[in-house]
Amino acid sequence: MTKYIFVSGGVISGVGKGVATASIGRILKEYGFSVTAVKIDPYINCDAGTMRPTEHGEVWVTEDGGEIDQDLGNYERFLEIPILKSNAITTGQIYKELIEKERRGDFLGETVSFIPHVPDEVKKRIAKAGEGYDICLIEIGGVIGDYENIPFLFAAKSLELEMGYENVCHIMVTYLPVPGHIEEMKTKPTQLAIKMLRENGIQPDFILCRGKFPLDNVRKQKIERYSNVQPGHVISAPDVVGEETANTIYVVPLNFEKDNLGEKLMKRLELEKIKEPNWEAWGEMVRRTTNPSSSIDIAIVGKYLDIGDFQLTDSYLSVSAALSHAGAANDVGVNIHWIGAKKIEEKEIDLSKYDGILVPGGFGNSGVEGKIGAVQYARENDIPYLGLCYGLQMAVIEFARNVCGLDANTSEVDKEVAHKIIDILPEQIGIDKKGGTMRLGAYEAFLKEGSGIAKIYGSNKVSERHRHRYEVNSEYHEALEENGLVISGKSEDGRLAEFIEIPGKKFFFATQSHPEFKSCPMKPAPMFDAFVRACM
Ligand code: GLN
Repeated sequence: MTKYIFVSGGVISGVGKGVATASIGRILKEYGFSVTAVKIDPYINCDAGTMRPTEHGEVWVTEDGGEIDQDLGNYERFLEIPILKSNAITTGQIYKELIEKERRGDFLGETVSFIPHVPDEVKKRIAKAGEGYDICLIEIGGVIGDYENIPFLFAAKSLELEMGYENVCHIMVTYLPVPGHIEEMKTKPTQLAIKMLRENGIQPDFILCRGKFPLDNVRKQKIERYSNVQPGHVISAPDVVGEETANTIYVVPLNFEKDNLGEKLMKRLELEKIKEPNWEAWGEMVRRTTNPSSSIDIAIVGKYLDIGDFQLTDSYLSVSAALSHAGAANDVGVNIHWIGAKKIEEKEIDLSKYDGILVPGGFGNSGVEGKIGAVQYARENDIPYLGLCYGLQMAVIEFARNVCGLDANTSEVDKEVAHKIIDILPEQIGIDKKGGTMRLGAYEAFLKEGSGIAKIYGSNKVSERHRHRYEVNSEYHEALEENGLVISGKSEDGRLAEFIEIPGKKFFFATQSHPEFKSCPMKPAPMFDAFVRACM
């Protein structure tokens, strides 16, 4: 019987529900259980694929080609299992499905209503995601009190009644502000959030209290009393900055375990541990992430960085995560410097001070010349270069222009250019719907025997995730190779350039794929690992 753990949020968004959910999952995995996780996003979009990264963060790509919320990336990184697109549920999907069923006649004679049809569809999806696992975590996006959350909270309560109290529990992640003018941690917003959760029929079993500081005993007891939870079920979860092992989300499961959250959860769900947890390797990874022996400086040249007065680096969350994993593996701190590609166009940036340059994925024409300039600088000055997806396309354009002497560009940016060195994938021609129509998900690539990339992967066949509409135009493969670029990995039919490299450089590799999506804290993506080593 699968056990279900719902995680909802109180007071404000952005309290780290996703990391809390992933951390709880990791803890239970350490006790020997098989764990999966589901994210519910109450928006009407069917997935995150059409959303602006500066607004919603990175679009996470699943093995099976889902374009979904970045929180599912944290689930994969903490749980070390692929999470499929069906584990991302949105309001849009639910209504789309119900309307399609209604049109098909599945409900003939019935009035299709908000209750029970909407929560029933939600429950069906949760149950399906949990199938075959000991434990299924479900994170409800947004904050308690959001109108859009009501059907999901209804489904959570209803699932509890169906499955039995001992099989479903509820965790609320809340925030305790410390207003500057009184310098005191306030519990009232949390009390109100609990009240709102109860209005939906849900009694929280655990309350995780996020805040700038740890929760003191006086406030802990106040919340315990107010919410009627078991003593010890109000757990302090202070910001992970400032401490010795701070500045990494991977410390969160260790912190929760200081409060014995794992055992408390097992008791509540009537579970017996299957094995003793072993946090040694995880703890060492945290130590290396926070107190590495040395450090390197890497420039990430991207476009989705500025929003208002803030730099939102969430747009490239998996890239920075993968760099951090590779850093931990090599006991080196990776200082990431975010560089708006436009600043390079305006010659405001000196790239000579970086140990490595990385151009991540991207779309459209903004900042493209800056990215190409960054590649040129890396190639000409032999600074390690890693290109991901658009970063491969930029590297190929740069090579075509400055080594092969061609007036080249991508047709994504310039449809009239003489040499469309990057051009639309044939199967993408004529596609006019934007949602879920790119070349998405895991595809295999075959690597050239003896190439640098085959050595990095230690294999001649690899599978990585993709999200693109354009490719290196195969009419130019020969010209590029004659001039010294090696297309060292191709799709099975030999048409698509999946990996490129320039031999003789310290490190000059790029891929049409996104290896960052498969990087885990204790198992970094091979390309990132090799890049970080080259930068060292
Ligand atoms: N815009 C490019 C394409 O569609 C690259 C996409 C990406 O970097 N994910 O092919």
